[in-house]
Amino acid sequence: MSSSSSVRRGIMSSISNAIPLKNGLSLWCPRSTSVNQISGPSSIVSTSSRRRFTVSASSFANENREFVIVGGGNAAGYAARTFVEHGLADGRLCIVSKEAYAPYERPALTKGYLFPLDKKPARLPGFHTCVGSGGERQTPDWYKEKGIEMLYEDPMEGIDIEKQTVRTNSGKLLKYGSLIIATGCTASRFPDKIGGNLPGVHYIRDVADANSLISSLEKAKKVVVVGGGYIGMEVAAAAVGWKLDTTIIFPEDHLMTRLFTPSLAQKYEQLYQDYGVRFVKGASIKNLEAGSDGRVAGVKLENGSTIEADTVVVGIGAKPAIGPFERVGLSSAVGGIQVDGQFRTSVPGIFAIGDVAAFPLKIYNRIARVEHVDHARRSAHHCVKSLVTAHTATYDYLPYFYSRVFEYEGSQRKVWWQFFGDNVGETVEVGNFDPKVATFWIDSGKLKGVFLESGSPEEFQLLPKLARSQPSIDKAKLEKASSVEEALEIAKASLQG
Ligand SMILES: Cc1cc2nc3c(=O)[nH]c(=O)nc-3n(C[C@H](O)[C@H](O)[C@H](O)COP(=O)(O)OP(=O)(O)OC[C@H]3O[C@@H](n4cnc5c(N)ncnc54)[C@H](O)[C@@H]3O)c2cc1C
Repeated sequence: MSSSSSVRRGIMSSISNAIPLKNGLSLWCPRSTSVNQISGPSSIVSTSSRRRFTVSASSFANENREFVIVGGGNAAGYAARTFVEHGLADGRLCIVSKEAYAPYERPALTKGYLFPLDKKPARLPGFHTCVGSGGERQTPDWYKEKGIEMLYEDPMEGIDIEKQTVRTNSGKLLKYGSLIIATGCTASRFPDKIGGNLPGVHYIRDVADANSLISSLEKAKKVVVVGGGYIGMEVAAAAVGWKLDTTIIFPEDHLMTRLFTPSLAQKYEQLYQDYGVRFVKGASIKNLEAGSDGRVAGVKLENGSTIEADTVVVGIGAKPAIGPFERVGLSSAVGGIQVDGQFRTSVPGIFAIGDVAAFPLKIYNRIARVEHVDHARRSAHHCVKSLVTAHTATYDYLPYFYSRVFEYEGSQRKVWWQFFGDNVGETVEVGNFDPKVATFWIDSGKLKGVFLESGSPEEFQLLPKLARSQPSIDKAKLEKASSVEEALEIAKASLQG
């Protein structure tokens, strides 16, 4: 069921910076600023960005640490692995973490973690980094064995750039040689005054959030998911698995507007509707209403209607967790902490990686912030390699995005898709979603981006090659393709052209 698109965009549009924007991959790759327009940190950074300290062997007995990573998430886990690979972790690396868990693969939280309880949901230690890339699973013991100091549940609260010290919540003072900021993002929230913190209202960023959501799902009957991006789509799919009455509300006119074409979105929306999910599109939320028990009982829209709910999950975007790093040099173009192609900030010895970093996206000549696990992994590896070796190559990232839903045992239709490149220009869609569909973005005769649902491993491997090469492609020929396989063959042949 769709609501009228004439509903005014009130509160939801007022937080439009947090919500996926209309054109392009705005949240992860804002294309507002060309790399050339920015006087990059590389021009400010001194030639030697690594500083050394005498540390007291592996005991971490004094306050000196050669390397400190602030943030214990996806990027931190991969950075730790790279330090280990270079033999520079033991007794030298300290990770300051807000969470109670060793770094894990965060995307699992809205996928396997939310499987119905009788369908073998994912749980730690099953998905610690670096299982997502086929690497060794880095459990808490792994960090101990590698001589890495982990400060759990002790977030960094202050930094003194001159003295090169960070202070943690428990009062610990650490003097760093090199500091890597890997604080990721925090979920955007509805304000308290409109019911954003009522019991039964959930945001999902970490394991604690996911556990809290599961305890609501166990009792839930009616779930409202606010937001039509990947978090909304994944949580709604999970709620279907739990056999709950589910409604998705969003201000746009279709799902995933930052990536999907209307036609592509229509196919996914139909699938969700076949599963019984209702859609309320073009909607703006006035407030979340409480019942007599103080728990959320409904979502009131600006048009005066109310949708009943005992559980509300809000997936309206995320903000870079800049916290105490304002003085390090922030990007006015895309938010986050500005770095150069080796993840150096404007302050010698301080680096930023993962979701929080605003970096030069070389392939498209613009500054971007990418909220994607693949970038978290690659930026961590690139940064640490540049820091500890003479490696000076510029990071050259190809935007990539994926999702997988309805994957629990017994599901009638599993969905998994990948996108590589830039979603600019005209589109050609091939396939009927049974199960495959592909969309090609073509700009000035060049293939810029490719989306594929339910591809084979070989087909998925072709996508980055296409998006990276940006070959000239015959659009008319592509339009005539009678199957996804044929369209991909045409695209593959264009690589030779
Ligand atoms: C529910 C969910 C599903 C996702 N699904 C996908 C997906 O399907 N595909 C995909 O590509 N990406 C997905 N992502 C995005 C992906 O998880 C992120 O891009 C990735 O985790 C970024 O890694 P990071 O290390 O930069 O940040 P994070 O993994 O968020 O880690 C940051 C860590 O820093 C900690 N921190 C913050 N401030 C401080 C402080 N002051 N002191 C100490 N610690 C601090 C945080 O608590 C957190 O543990 C998803 C994200 C979420 C939340």
